[in-house]
Amino acid sequence: MLPGSGAALARCLPTCLRDWRQPTRICSVNTMKTDCVIAGGGPAGMMLGLLLARAGVDVVVLEKHADFLRDFRGDTIHPSTLDVMHELGLLDEFLRRPHDELREVAVRVGDEQATLADFRHVPTHCKFLMMMPQWDFLDFLAGHARKLPSFHLVMRAEAQRLLIDEGRVTGVVARTPEGELEVRAALVVGADGRHSTIRAQAGLQPQDFGAPMDVLWLRVSRLAADPPDLFGQVDAGRMLVMIARGDYWQCALLIPKGSGDVWRGRGVAALHEALLGLSPWLGERVKELTDWDEQVKLLSVTVDRLREWAMPGLLCIGDAAHAMSPIGGVGINLAVQDAVAAARLLAQPLREHELDLDALRRVQRRREWPVRVVQRMQLTMQDRLIAPILASTGPVRMPGFLRMLGRFPLLRRIPAWFIGVGVRPEHVA
Ligand SMILES: Cc1cc2nc3c(=O)[nH]c(=O)nc-3n(C[C@H](O)[C@H](O)[C@H](O)COP(=O)(O)OP(=O)(O)OC[C@H]3O[C@@H](n4cnc5c(N)ncnc54)[C@H](O)[C@@H]3O)c2cc1C
Repeated sequence: MLPGSGAALARCLPTCLRDWRQPTRICSVNTMKTDCVIAGGGPAGMMLGLLLARAGVDVVVLEKHADFLRDFRGDTIHPSTLDVMHELGLLDEFLRRPHDELREVAVRVGDEQATLADFRHVPTHCKFLMMMPQWDFLDFLAGHARKLPSFHLVMRAEAQRLLIDEGRVTGVVARTPEGELEVRAALVVGADGRHSTIRAQAGLQPQDFGAPMDVLWLRVSRLAADPPDLFGQVDAGRMLVMIARGDYWQCALLIPKGSGDVWRGRGVAALHEALLGLSPWLGERVKELTDWDEQVKLLSVTVDRLREWAMPGLLCIGDAAHAMSPIGGVGINLAVQDAVAAARLLAQPLREHELDLDALRRVQRRREWPVRVVQRMQLTMQDRLIAPILASTGPVRMPGFLRMLGRFPLLRRIPAWFIGVGVRPEHVA
């Protein structure tokens, strides 16, 4: 541990820095020392913070927002992440939180319907895809992490620049309501998402692989007689993914890349028309959408990856290292898997003050291959399936490989395994 870290640090922290639920007060301390400072309290940052603190590493997580209750950010928790929760001994308690369980994914193309994935056979504890608002997931992780003496979560702290001494990153400066907070650490982790400040400050440039689509996220109420679970609907120039969430449908309408403003200009009437064109059974319910700004969220789809995830004293994980396409809804899962691998590989060197660049590069070597495999699959789907559909004006036919999945139930286990478990699932040390 660094001098001034651990229990000593916790003691010198004012209440507002120890407990994010407390209203922030004027703080006198503006310098902290710790073993690891993580910028970003998303799935990657919170999971890494919890795991490192659990392994006895002193860790500070900086989150720029005041709470986790933000816009919709995706809410799939995959079976492999649920296995991580099981390994942490938290699964039963986690499953008691309100959630939905999806066991099948189906698609309707024109008038033809096929089931594409069946999660009932994945080799994990939970044989379903869990749907839980991301803020509930983060709140759960934060609740458990905060019980650990070496975990410190600082809300309303936006990491703005890196401290660099002789070519090595030695800390981060964050903006807080009380002024600047300087956190010195043996390791800075950029877990601050797809528009990562840490990555930009370090001069790390992601390779952009492009995407033909953006996504409009919106909600429509759900009735008992509606179709079950999760399914996609496809027609000329349009794709809609509907995820059953209790009494509402979480809908993702795929639109051509960069056309968000055009859609916004057309207003909610264009949305009503698009939804009814794909799901006529929604009927009058589409009229629940009355206010674009309040009810529609645009996801600008990005698929990118850093060539180098690390430099001396710094590591990027999750979306900061690789933004994923929404295909398969795997972004959260991969962020969590990165965190699990990073904690397993770095806890000991951090505890023993022997962290070097090789250790950080081991994390990239471990995680880059699964990310590449998933991104390759997503790019193939984007180019071969989504781009032609969004560009089509005539009738769309069910692609042959989707029809095969629909016909042969055994084959449906393959996409379920790929989405639900993925290549090289990580395990808690
Ligand atoms: C609208 C939308 C829908 C999505 N749907 C899905 C889905 O269904 N399934 C799925 O798996 N994935 C989905 N994703 C992607 C998924 O949310 C991400 O892949 C995943 O959250 C990545 O986790 P992360 O921890 O790496 O980054 P993020 O979740 O982006 O977390 C980064 C955190 O860092 C904080 N932060 C940012 N900058 C700073 C800073 N400078 N200082 C301090 N804190 C900072 C942010 O506030 C945030 O809390 C969706 C994304 C969006 C935007």
